[in-house]
Amino acid sequence: MSTIEATSKESPAGQAPSPGTVAYELEGSLYLNVTRSCTARCRFCYREESPRIGPYDLALVRDPTAEEFRAVLGNAGRYRQIVFCGFGEPTLRLALLSEIGRELKGKARSVRLNTNGHGNLIHGRNIVPDLAGFLSAVSISLNAHNAVLYEELCRPSFGPDTFQAVLDFARKCVGSIPDVALTVVEHPRVDLEECGRIAAAIGAALRVRRYYTHIQDTQRYLPDNG
Ligand code: SF4
Repeated sequence: MSTIEATSKESPAGQAPSPGTVAYELEGSLYLNVTRSCTARCRFCYREESPRIGPYDLALVRDPTAEEFRAVLGNAGRYRQIVFCGFGEPTLRLALLSEIGRELKGKARSVRLNTNGHGNLIHGRNIVPDLAGFLSAVSISLNAHNAVLYEELCRPSFGPDTFQAVLDFARKCVGSIPDVALTVVEHPRVDLEECGRIAAAIGAALRVRRYYTHIQDTQRYLPDNG
């Protein structure tokens, strides 16, 4: 199978509805669609309007169970990387990440989390030691070069201090998780050079993602959502 491992939203009478696309393959990596919930409302996000990546419809009827993820991870070692992502924030389901992540140890070649960096705010504690137990890599959405623009672009539910909390989360990841990257959308108002300086000061890499202005263009790929 070369493309996707997904389940239909239709299910036999009497059974709970299938969640939708549980996992999908992109460029040799398997992406796990962990949740549809998020603690931000980024202006450039198409989670609500058109939750698609390439050919994949990522709209979830409900969040998938651990068992449903296990069902697509039988051959985890064949993928370049297993990626916890979503059209939502995966750390909202920290217990599930830890459960599946621990099971992937020794089976997956690499395990990455795509996150908005709100995990410590969500749980009210430092969750990086939990994540470091099973992650090889983490991609953290920076999305702005300062707190004012971050709040305007990402509209985080935790308010104006969120940008600093994201930076603090990233600092804690560096040294605990082998590969730490900050990601930023190539938005006309975002100062990419300043983002590069922020990433360098933290000791993280910076990855720039394309900014899509045409929400109906469902053939685009933006695999680092989170
Ligand atoms: S953090 Fe990610 S999933 Fe959440 S609104 Fe922003 S881009 Fe969308």
